[in-house]
Amino acid sequence: MTINCDKDIKDLKVLISEEEIKEKLKVLANDIETIFPRDEEIYAICVLKGSVMFCSDLVKYIHRPVQMEFIRISSYGNETKSTNNLQAIDLTLPNLNDKNVLIVEDIIDTGLTARFLTDLFKIKHLPKKLAFVTLLNKKCARQVDIEPDLYGFEVDDKFVVGYGLDYKGYFRNLPYIGYFPA
Ligand code: 5GP
Repeated sequence: MTINCDKDIKDLKVLISEEEIKEKLKVLANDIETIFPRDEEIYAICVLKGSVMFCSDLVKYIHRPVQMEFIRISSYGNETKSTNNLQAIDLTLPNLNDKNVLIVEDIIDTGLTARFLTDLFKIKHLPKKLAFVTLLNKKCARQVDIEPDLYGFEVDDKFVVGYGLDYKGYFRNLPYIGYFPA
């Protein structure tokens, strides 16, 4: 099959397996429940497209009412390095004033997206409680001083794909996280 992509799945190395991700989701969901006030509903904000798998799987392990909302941001384009050119494609949300809001990201790299989103929610939405969870944390690539409340795995400064994360639109459907060795 010919696809419009210069990377071949045969060269992909598994970094984090499907099983490891599944186990981590349970831990994160448990931690999320302790962050927000007991017995109150949570608004999970899925940051598309990269967080689609993480967010959908994570909420299955949160044992209380969860409302799911979706926003769309683009920062990489077709590159494997952050362009620092953040594009807010769709930020349409209901009124989240005085709600428990959980921003769900796939990966924090430079931190620019996380900074933008955190500021946006704090200033525009005035939630009761705001928390940020990311599956992957590339601490070594940070350009702004920001850390998530929770994260699944720390990763080196390498470009990763799978489980929602893409390269030129491909590899999002892989159930694990992988990378292409240099
Ligand atoms: P930041 O603003 O922290 O530099 O980047 C955040 C966004 O860049 C993520 O939500 C993700 O879409 C994209 N990104 C950052 N690192 C990677 C990576 O290693 N692989 C992929 N596929 N996307 C990444």
